[in-house]
Amino acid sequence: MAHLLEGKPIAERLKEELKKEILNFDIKPVLASIQVLENPACEVYIKSQKKTAESLGIDYRFYKLDSNISESKLIEFIQNLNLDNSIHGIILQMPLPSHIDYKNISEYIDPKKDVEGLNPKNLGKLIFGKAKILPCTPSAVMELLKETKVDLYGKEVVVVGHSEIVGKPLALLLLEKFATTTVCHIATSQRSKLEEHVKQAEILVVAVGKANLIKGNWIKEGAIVIDVGINKVGDKIVGDVELEEASKRASWITPVPGGVGPLTTVMLMRNLLEATKLQI
Ligand code: NAD
Repeated sequence: MAHLLEGKPIAERLKEELKKEILNFDIKPVLASIQVLENPACEVYIKSQKKTAESLGIDYRFYKLDSNISESKLIEFIQNLNLDNSIHGIILQMPLPSHIDYKNISEYIDPKKDVEGLNPKNLGKLIFGKAKILPCTPSAVMELLKETKVDLYGKEVVVVGHSEIVGKPLALLLLEKFATTTVCHIATSQRSKLEEHVKQAEILVVAVGKANLIKGNWIKEGAIVIDVGINKVGDKIVGDVELEEASKRASWITPVPGGVGPLTTVMLMRNLLEATKLQI
C-alpha cells in the first residue's frame, strides 16, 4: 500500500521558513492580485492566497477589473503596477474572458514581479536552469518528489499533460535533474499509447483535468504518483488517477485534494519573496 504524499505538512513547514525570512525584511512584501473574470474556482484560489499571504505577513492587494476590459487596457493596468515601487509581485488570476489571450499578456508582467514564473523571460531562464522564479505548480511537484527522497537521475518519468503552466515547465525541471522525461498529451491518448507509456513510469505526474483518466492497474509496482488534476465529480473533488486502485501498486501517491494544491500557493509566496529580493 502506498504512502500518502500529503502536501499540507510540507506546506506548513515551508510557510514557517518563509515567515521567518519575511520577519528579517525591512519591508512588508506586497502581492497584487488581479481578477478579470468571476469564476467559482478562482474565488476559492483567491481566498486561499489571501489567507496564506496574511498568515505570512504579506500584504495581499486585490484588484477586480471589469470583465469587459480590453486587452490593451489590461496591459496598461499591469504596466502601472510594474512601475509602482510599492508592489513586489503581480498575479493575474485565470481564467480570463475569451477576448483576452493570456499568451499575449504574460510578457507584460515585469519579470522581476512575475510571481507565477510565466513571463517568457523567466520561462526562457528555465531552459538554462537559471530561473530564480519558477512556475508554481511544477515547483510544488518538485517539492513533493524531494519529500520522497527519490533520486531523479536517469529515472523513467512520465508527465501526462503539456500545458504551459504545468506539463511543459515541469518537464524542463525534471530534465534539469537528468530524469528520462516523457511528456504525454491528448494525441498520445488518441493514438491509444497512454497506457503503454504510463506502465513504464517509475514516476508519474498527471496534469490533465479528467477524472480517473489513469487507471489504477496501469501503475507500475512501486511507482511514485503525483496527481495534479482537480475535478469535481458530484460534490466531491477527485484527481486524474484512480486513487484507490493506484494506491495498491504505488510506493507514494498524492491525495486529491490535499496533495499538490496546498503547496502551489506556498510556492507563489516563495516566488514573491524571491521577487522582493530582486527589487530591494
Ligand atoms: P490544460 O487544460 O491547460 O492542459 C491539459 C493537458 O492535458 C493538455 O496537455 C492536453 O493535451 C492533455 N490532455 C487532455 N486530454 C487528455 C487525454 N485524454 N489524455 C492525455 N492527455 C490529455 O490544463 P492545466 O491548466 O495544465 O491543468 C490540468 C489539471 O491540473 C486541471 O485539472 C487543473 O485544475 C489542475 N491544476 C491543479 C493545480 C494545483 O495547484 N493543484 C494547478 C494547476 C492546474
